[in-house]
Amino acid sequence: MIVCKFGGTSTTSLKSIQNIKALKEKNKKRQVFVFSAIGKKYQKDKKITDLLIEITQNINVSKNKKLILNKFNKLQKDLKININVKKLLNKYYNYFLLTKNADYLISKGEYITTLLMSKYLDIKFIPAEKIIFFQNNKINYKKTKNKLIYYKNKYKIFATCGFYGVNENKQIKLFSRGGSDITGAIIAKCLNANIYENWTDVYGVRQVNPKITNSKQIKKMSYADLDIMTRCDANVIHNDCIEILYGEKIKLKVGNIFDIKSKKTIVVDRYKKVKFVCCKIDKDKVIIVYRDKKLNLVKNECELSNYKENILKIYEKLY
Ligand code: ASP
Repeated sequence: MIVCKFGGTSTTSLKSIQNIKALKEKNKKRQVFVFSAIGKKYQKDKKITDLLIEITQNINVSKNKKLILNKFNKLQKDLKININVKKLLNKYYNYFLLTKNADYLISKGEYITTLLMSKYLDIKFIPAEKIIFFQNNKINYKKTKNKLIYYKNKYKIFATCGFYGVNENKQIKLFSRGGSDITGAIIAKCLNANIYENWTDVYGVRQVNPKITNSKQIKKMSYADLDIMTRCDANVIHNDCIEILYGEKIKLKVGNIFDIKSKKTIVVDRYKKVKFVCCKIDKDKVIIVYRDKKLNLVKNECELSNYKENILKIYEKLY
């Protein structure tokens, strides 16, 4: 069984949306589809989550409401479906004004995106509030697993929203930013999935942050190595996923939704050490973490002003 999670950019273009459908048709083992809220279409664009956060802070409320509605309507046009999203948004906004629960309103980005995508994919929509449960700020795995198994047996295939769950008082509670990855990992663990596919807009995990240089893709690696990288500047997947997935015999595959046939990075419990250069920025200091020629882990401290050049130097010298 495969759990797949689609990042925010996956729902920004017709091509990626069609790729999601193609993935569903191509392999019937893909049975859980987790969605992030619609993300950025271009560099200066804003994610729905960021727009909703601004609304909860009373920033540009009517302008941001319009921007959100435009994004959902563009998605509806691509999907050829027609739901009154404006009415839904107003209802959620009014409820937020009453309760002042920001997490509630912010979660609606994932909720509406998933609702629309489930209609397009023609699969059951199970909102996260029915399957992801917190207790004392931690995941209640027993309850979460029971509910997941119940819905999985009932519907075989379904879509759900990433990024949030409900606490013991039935209040919506968000994960940290990028948390839809965490939802997917929890579901993969609870349902004993063999594969957790994480579809992003980049070609898997690279040896160096693609914002710094265009390095080689890492084809296969261990969770331990991914853990080191995601504690640094590899933000291709949320670091919290690793603890959830490690030791569960789940293969994590990180792929590009705009090019679904391209090679993915595969992450497994045990694998030989791989080469990478990453960094952790701490105020005005930067710690560069990399593997030397003998694959030993090395840490170097440098100034913020020249860390990118230093990373490039190490990368060019070593690999
Ligand atoms: N939409 C949320 C965020 O922007 C969660 C996610 O995308 O994973 O952080």
